[in-house]
Amino acid sequence: MIIFSGGTGTPKLLNGLRKVIPEQDITVVVNTAEDLWVSGNLVTPDIDTVLYLFSDRIDLKKWWGIEGDTFRTHETMKSLGHRERMMLGDLDRATHIMRSDYLRDGHTLSEAIMMLSESMGIKAKILPMSDDPVSTTIVTPSGKRHFQDFWIGKRGEPEVLDVFQEGINRASISPAVLRALENDDKVLIGPSNPITSIGPIAGLPGMVDILRKKKVIAVSPIIGKEPVSGPAGKLMHARGIDVSSAGVASYYGEFLDTFIIDEQDTADAAVFENMACKVVSADTMMKSVDISVDLSKLILREFNQICLS
Ligand code: GDP
Repeated sequence: MIIFSGGTGTPKLLNGLRKVIPEQDITVVVNTAEDLWVSGNLVTPDIDTVLYLFSDRIDLKKWWGIEGDTFRTHETMKSLGHRERMMLGDLDRATHIMRSDYLRDGHTLSEAIMMLSESMGIKAKILPMSDDPVSTTIVTPSGKRHFQDFWIGKRGEPEVLDVFQEGINRASISPAVLRALENDDKVLIGPSNPITSIGPIAGLPGMVDILRKKKVIAVSPIIGKEPVSGPAGKLMHARGIDVSSAGVASYYGEFLDTFIIDEQDTADAAVFENMACKVVSADTMMKSVDISVDLSKLILREFNQICLS
């Protein structure tokens, strides 16, 4: 199965899925549009969360960084007057240095992540969506900002006039992702931010045409009228998309076979009546790994049903 992922909601689901199917049968295509260079090294926040999840080191309280990490390098640089764009842990920084050295040696991002995955003993395939730079840019009244500078630097507070992915039209789907998509007909779109995590992957030239031919299940990242976490609501609103599961379903509409909404939204099921996809409700608030496991089992059953129909 191929899973499209950002760095919070989908990794929570992957935490259950890896207990239900063999890890080597999992291929994760990860968003790279939030990547940025920090203090000389490329940071790939969504990929790193997935790497740390599969190597059992993720900080499960924050869903980013390595559990028990320290911030001495970051704090020391701060005391010397260097303000980093992001707070990087000391152990986490080792990953960024290694990845960036691989890139400086002429490797692609896909190769760098493959080498890191191997060193970390990960059996799942973790694939950057593209080897080309793509960058989510937020347009605010005071100008354009990289997504991380908006979300971390400005705590997501500025008004959002627009959001777009710089470089997306020039970027190619990575050869490894294309190969994976040729060999698998099941794509799971995890509960990730539709604009900043799934939007960039689906927005790569040619991806929608590929998805139309696949069996696609998506899990809504919106419960009620709010995202579970993060700025998805503000960004969907800026794009003119209704902040609801129905809004997400219509955004993904053209390639969706089955859409999983939260059981709290069952009363809204009528909203989906005119949509071509099947709508299933479940407990999608992944407060524990058991809930992620149950949701993963439901997803496997739904994939089997699409295969039978
Ligand atoms: P990011 O890369 O850190 O922004 O993370 P993602 O895009 O992967 O995930 C952010 C999205 O995950 C947000 O829109 C949240 O609403 C959604 N999310 C987080 N936790 C959960 C959960 O337990 N259930 C569901 N349904 N969505 C979640």
